[in-house]
Amino acid sequence: MTPAASQLPVAERAEVRRSAVRLVRADGRAFAAVLALNALAAGAGLAGPWLLGRIVDEVRAGRGAGAVDRLALGILVCALAQLLLARWARYVGHRFGERTLARVREEFVDRALALPASVVERAGTGDLTARGTADVGVVGTTLRDVGPELLVCTVQALFTLCAVFVLDPLLGLFGVLGLTPIWLALRWYLRRARDGYLAEGAATSEVAEILAATASGARTVEAFQLQDRRIAASRDALETSRRTRLYTLYLRTVFFPAVEVSYTIPVAGILLIGGVLHAHGMVGLGAVVAAALYLRQFTDPLDQILMRVEQLQSSGASFARVEGLALAPRGQGESGAPAPADDRIDVRGVRYAYERGGEVLRGVDLTVRPGERLAVVGPSGAGKTTLSRLLAGVDAPGTGTVTVGGVPIAGLEPERLRRQVVLVTQEHHVFLGTVRENLLIAEPSAGDETLWAALTAVGADGWVRELPDGLDTRLGTGGCATDGSQAQQLALARVVLADPHTLILDEATALLDPATARHTERALAAVLEGRTVIAIAHRLHTAHDADRVAVMEDGRLTELGTHEELVAADGAYAALWRTWHGGQD
Ligand code: ADP
Repeated sequence: MTPAASQLPVAERAEVRRSAVRLVRADGRAFAAVLALNALAAGAGLAGPWLLGRIVDEVRAGRGAGAVDRLALGILVCALAQLLLARWARYVGHRFGERTLARVREEFVDRALALPASVVERAGTGDLTARGTADVGVVGTTLRDVGPELLVCTVQALFTLCAVFVLDPLLGLFGVLGLTPIWLALRWYLRRARDGYLAEGAATSEVAEILAATASGARTVEAFQLQDRRIAASRDALETSRRTRLYTLYLRTVFFPAVEVSYTIPVAGILLIGGVLHAHGMVGLGAVVAAALYLRQFTDPLDQILMRVEQLQSSGASFARVEGLALAPRGQGESGAPAPADDRIDVRGVRYAYERGGEVLRGVDLTVRPGERLAVVGPSGAGKTTLSRLLAGVDAPGTGTVTVGGVPIAGLEPERLRRQVVLVTQEHHVFLGTVRENLLIAEPSAGDETLWAALTAVGADGWVRELPDGLDTRLGTGGCATDGSQAQQLALARVVLADPHTLILDEATALLDPATARHTERALAAVLEGRTVIAIAHRLHTAHDADRVAVMEDGRLTELGTHEELVAADGAYAALWRTWHGGQD
C-alpha cells in the first residue's frame, strides 16, 4: 500500500553504452549497410552546392549556356540519386530498428521473469510495469524513428562540414568557429538533461505504483477509511511528477530557442568573411557561394540532430531503466549452486524482517522429516505465511539458513527449485495460451503422454478432452473460458509435472472456495500423495490429521509434536483445540 521503498536499479552510463554497442553488434551487418547507404546518399547530396559554385565560376568566366546546362543536369541527377539512396537507407534503418526493439523487448521479458519475487515485492509492481510499458515504448520510438533519422543526419552533417573544408580550409575553419554558440548551448543542455529525465521517469513510476497499489487495495482503503490519505499520497506523487516535467520543459525552452538563433551565425559569418577573403583574391566567388550553401544545408541535419539528441536523452534515461533490470539482485537462478544431497528441509536460527517493520521471525529452528505431514498453526500475524515463503525459496532469511539437502533453498535455480519445493496457493492463474503451454511451464520437456497423465491425476482429463482442440485449445481472454475449479486443476497438474518432493500448502489462500473445493479435494489428495507436506493450517482438523503440529507464536515455534502429545501437554495448542472442538460440538 505504501510507495516503493526501493525501486529497481538503473543502469549507469557505461553500462548503457555497453548495452547499446551489444545491440548494434547483434545486427552488425544491417547497421553497416545503413551507414554505407547513408554515406552514399550524403555524398550525392553534396554534389549540388559544389556544382552550383561551378556554375557561378563558369558564368563569371563567360562560358556558354551549354556548360551551364550540363552542370544543371548534373545537379538534377545527384538530387534524384540522393532521394533514392536516402529512402533506401531509411528503409534498411527502420528494419534494423524494429529487429533491435524486438530484442530489447524479449530481453526485458526474460529478465522480468527471472526477477526473484521478493525483489519485485520490494520495488513494487508499478515500477516494473512503468519500465515494461512507458520506458520500453520510449526506447522503441528511438529505435524505430529517432535512431535511423539520427544516423542519416549525422552522416549528412559530417559530410557537409568536410565538404566546406575540402572547398577551402580557411572557410571551413570559420564555419566551424561559427558553430561555437550551438555547441555551448548543447553542452549546457546535456549536463542537465540525463538527471532531469531520470527524475521524470522515477516520478512516473511512483505515480503508477501509487495508483496500482490503491486500485489493488481498494477494499482495504475503504475498510480503513484511507481514502483521504491515498488521495493525498497520489497528489504528492503527481506534484513531484509535474515538477520534474516542468524542469525538463524548462531545459527545452532554453535550449531550442538558443540553438534556433545560433543557426544564422555560421552562414552570415561565412558570407562576411568569404566576401573579405574574395576581395583580397584569396578564394574564388564560386567557393564562397558553395560554402555558404553548404553551411545553410548543414543546419537542416543539425536541427534534426539536436531535436533527436533531446529525444535521445529522454530515451537514454528510459533505456537505463530498462537495462537496470539486468542489475537487480538475483536471489534465485544462480547457476552453479550445488545439487541438494537429499530431501530433508532444515530451518536453522532463522530471523526475518520485512523492508519496513520489525522482526517477524525471531529465531526459528525446524527439521521437516521427508514424507511427513507437518501442520503449522498459530494466531494471525504469528509469521506462518512468512515462514512458508522462506520454505518455498521465495525469499532468503535475514540470518540463519533454510536448506534442502544442505543447500540454501532461495539460492536454487528455478528449474531445480521446482523439483524440490512448490508453494500451492489459490492464485491459480491461467496463462494466455493453450492448455499445453499452461502445463509446459512446469516441465518444458514433457510429452503429450506425460501431460495427459498429469491431467488424469488431477481429474481434469475429461473436460480437456472435450475442448475443441484438446491440448491445443487456447485459454484465457479471447479463448476458452475456464472456471475456478478448472484453473485450480491446471495449477495442480503443473505441480504433478514439476514433481517436487515437498509441497507448502497455504490454507489461507488455498482451496477455500467451497464450490471449487468439492471438485478439487480429490485432485489435491492425489497431488499430496507420496510427498512431504507442510500445511499452514487455518483449520484445526488439518492439524489433527497431520503427523506433527508446530505451533507458532510471535515469530517463534513454541510447541512441536503430534496432536495427541500437544493436547496432553496442555499448552497453547491444547487451548486452541479445546476452543475449536468446543465450537464444533
Ligand atoms: P501469519 O501468516 O501467521 O498470519 P504473516 O507471516 O503473514 O503471519 O505476518 C507476520 C507479520 O509480518 C505480521 O505482523 C504482518 O503484518 C507482517 N507482514 C507480512 N507481510 C508483510 C510485508 N509484505 N511487509 C511488511 N510486513 C509484513
